[in-house]
Amino acid sequence: MTAFSIDRSELDSLFQALKKRGYEVVGPTLQDQAIVYDYIESSAELPVGMSDEQEAGSYRLKKRSDGALFAYAVGPHAWKKFLHPSHQRLWTVKKQKGDLQFISEKPNSIRYAFIGVRACDIAAMQVQDKVFLSGTEKNYFYKELRENTFIVGVNCSHAVSTCFCTSMQTGPKLLSGFDLSLTELIENERHIFLLKCGSKKGEEVLQELSYDQAKPAEQEAAQKLIENTSQQINKNLDVSNIQELFYQNYEHSHWEDVAERCLSCANCTMVCPTCFCTTVEDVSDLSGDHSERWQKWDSCFSLDFSYTHGTGPRRSSIKSRYRQWLTHKLATWIDQFGSSGCVGCGRCITWCPVGIDLTQEVAALRGIQK
Ligand code: SF4
Ligand code: SF4
Repeated sequence: MTAFSIDRSELDSLFQALKKRGYEVVGPTLQDQAIVYDYIESSAELPVGMSDEQEAGSYRLKKRSDGALFAYAVGPHAWKKFLHPSHQRLWTVKKQKGDLQFISEKPNSIRYAFIGVRACDIAAMQVQDKVFLSGTEKNYFYKELRENTFIVGVNCSHAVSTCFCTSMQTGPKLLSGFDLSLTELIENERHIFLLKCGSKKGEEVLQELSYDQAKPAEQEAAQKLIENTSQQINKNLDVSNIQELFYQNYEHSHWEDVAERCLSCANCTMVCPTCFCTTVEDVSDLSGDHSERWQKWDSCFSLDFSYTHGTGPRRSSIKSRYRQWLTHKLATWIDQFGSSGCVGCGRCITWCPVGIDLTQEVAALRGIQK
């Protein structure tokens, strides 16, 4: 892929070029002491000069002196918030002159441009593509949004202690799945982005920017930056024979140990970029002539999730719910969709209120103390 360079000031031209094409630009913003995704109008709304520190059960922002725009790791939001929203109306039914009229919800035609998508999160979208778009039944809400989304990826320049994308082969370098990729370079007073095109749409947008061919020294600096990020990643998940490990340790005593710590709060599934489970809920108004069915995010940690008529919840203990989550994520997902359900983003470790770390739980199953 040919590399180009743009000045930091050209980032707003990129936003304008995307808006001109009808995209709603969404990117990282600073809100409530965290970096979360929201609609943005200009690069000034990005978390300018911010970075983060993350550990199991802990997330802190910290200031940088260099005005970097993307020098932090992933936060509590995942892009599924937009592509697979937490609330989705499926259909409406109205009573009209004694008859019932059912109206299916149309897919949302909004066109998103996601700014600053990390390699692990592109991998997560590819995992959700398999969930929603493979097989005979496609999720047409997801399909419409995903096909119309423009992705501006960013190579990671900073990793935190919860990242383990290197174990899952999903990062930190962007390899595919983007329309444009950026690498942020700040040297002395110079603030530029190395830019690569990953699609025809990306090439067309590039033509609206003021760019240069990237110099060899700039390309080398970008390469070094990504290598440094890779070296910052210390966490490791040993995925060798991972399915056998789970299938042979269904009754391992360690599941009891995790259950004593796990609150079954479902945070890990809410922040996970690949978790996709939902429930449906019917709501009606007081007049009784109008009702709606909504799809809402659910979690295998909720007691009702496995409720079966006549027998009650199939997974009534926390032990069985944690085991279900981790076994699905790392083992049965492979049987079901042909790839792991984990991309190593580390969100479930950071946002677990009691700091449960799946990499340590897997190590414990292997009989290794970390
Ligand atoms: S592992 Fe942590 S985040 Fe997940 S349900 Fe248990 S306590 Fe909550
Ligand atoms: S299981 Fe945890 S580390 Fe893996 S993708 Fe989900 S949130 Fe990220």
